[in-house]
Amino acid sequence: MPTNPAIAIDGPAGAGKSTLAKLLAEKLGFVYINTGAMYRAVALLWKEKGGDPAEIAKGLRFQIEGDRILVEGRDVTDVLYTPEISELSSRISANPEVRRALVALQRSFRERYPVVMEGRDIGTVVLPDAEVKFFITASPLERARRRKAQFNDPRPLQEIKEEIERRDRRDSSREASPLRRAPDALVVDTTDMGVRETLELLLEFVRKKLKNYNLIKK
Ligand code: C5P
Repeated sequence: MPTNPAIAIDGPAGAGKSTLAKLLAEKLGFVYINTGAMYRAVALLWKEKGGDPAEIAKGLRFQIEGDRILVEGRDVTDVLYTPEISELSSRISANPEVRRALVALQRSFRERYPVVMEGRDIGTVVLPDAEVKFFITASPLERARRRKAQFNDPRPLQEIKEEIERRDRRDSSREASPLRRAPDALVVDTTDMGVRETLELLLEFVRKKLKNYNLIKK
């Protein structure tokens, strides 16, 4: 039986999951786990070395240190978020063997720490018993705007929006763990909401759900 409380955050690309998950983890003193970065890391190594992506996933050495992501001890933060790696990660994430390996890695974090884990299948597949589940969404145009601002993406907004919608379609229609809202997740549409306002809403829900845990108040 897991003893560490877990907060699962799922939703489509660019909805603000990472920002919210990071802030929530900071507020609560939980460990923040970005599972999209793991799929991106496998995509990057696969691009560099070739071979079987499932084997790469099985041997993945992945660390999150503050804002930086280390793979095999190498800081890859700045190369994980290119359009090419977005596209490759979305493709390899449909591979059930890759998913199996990364899900095992993701669950191992929860065995060690209280976590805020963010992705596409956290509330449905990775941690179906998570105490708190959120499904964060926003309109495609707003998500494209946020991606453009966050990564200083020089591409036209329309092109970013199309990339996001293509990934959404692939993530939602694949057979292995498609993007789905868990029935017990709180759906939050952030199209017209600021970060602070959304964070307050999430925190209120977390406090209610985790009232039996000794939450660190900051
Ligand atoms: O969250 P992010 O956009 O960085 O994720 C990159 C890609 O990894 C997504 O488009 C999706 O295909 C895949 N992914 C996934 N399951 C997760 C997290 C990410 O399939 N739990």
